[in-house]
Amino acid sequence: MNPSFETVELALDVPFTIARGTTTTTENVVVEIEHEGETGYGAAAPSRHYGETAATVEALLPELLEVVASVSDPHARREIHDRMDEVARENPAAKAAVDVALWDLAGKLLDQPVYRLLGLSADSDGCPPTSFTVGLDDTRAMTRRARQAADAGYPILKVKLGTDRDLRIVEAIRAVAPDVTLRVDANEAWTPTEAVRKCEALAEYGVEFVEQPVPAENPSGLRHVHERSPLPIAADESCLTADDVPAVADRCDVANLKLMKTGGLTPALELIHAGRAHGLEVMCGCMIETNAAIAGAAHLLPLLDYADLDGSLLLESDSFGGIEVTEGQFDLQSVQHGTGATPR
Ligand code: MG
Repeated sequence: MNPSFETVELALDVPFTIARGTTTTTENVVVEIEHEGETGYGAAAPSRHYGETAATVEALLPELLEVVASVSDPHARREIHDRMDEVARENPAAKAAVDVALWDLAGKLLDQPVYRLLGLSADSDGCPPTSFTVGLDDTRAMTRRARQAADAGYPILKVKLGTDRDLRIVEAIRAVAPDVTLRVDANEAWTPTEAVRKCEALAEYGVEFVEQPVPAENPSGLRHVHERSPLPIAADESCLTADDVPAVADRCDVANLKLMKTGGLTPALELIHAGRAHGLEVMCGCMIETNAAIAGAAHLLPLLDYADLDGSLLLESDSFGGIEVTEGQFDLQSVQHGTGATPR
């Protein structure tokens, strides 16, 4: 096996702001693993919020790729994960890059798309469409962006909130996009009392659910909101891996998994099954990510209730092509083998 990696800088289509700050460019670390004439691709989209940067990923990858080379079997992903976890307990984005590259490689070696390796079928009615995210900006710019996305056919918009004008933003977007499904994400910005009040008001605009209303460090606050909110609550920053599911299960309705929090597809499957066993709905989200990672996550779609896989759609240009997205729907059936990510 011949693994390598490279950091790529990706420019965003428009600056992306959430309650915690603004991003204009982002660094992803692309991993390539060659074996028996095929090459698997994956990528890390490290998040400072979870203690990772391109530099921490670059520092750890040589050791993780040494594990891959020493196991020397792209189908032995469980063993590779266990050994990666011995090398580093955390660093999930670095592990996700390796994991997605291994799934892509395994699919190419077996000439099957990843969803088939997972035992899934790819009829589009079994796959939820992705939302398109509208980042924070002044209300007029957010409304314009929402209208453009609705006009482009995206059936679901995810609106970032966490300001003193949250309700005005949703009111303005609802006025220009009356037919889209609207979700909102406060990225931990609200107090529990404020969150309950805002959830009650947001229910008037037909919002589908509210993501991460309060800080992850305030689990009793999350329970307070969940018990009183008329809208379903999704946990993102409060739910990183399958291990977090039992603790959030009685204080949210939806677990939002991300490959960059779980450490790849292999542990994401554990989160999905843990979520189901605890009666939660499951969503898959993403960071600002190249298609080398997004295409991997898309193969989980048949197992999901909701998807927010617009990471590559928010980029000005992506060094990887991915799976065609039409009106939010990934065309999984078009994937010949592997994840469907192709270097441009
Ligand atoms: Mg979120």
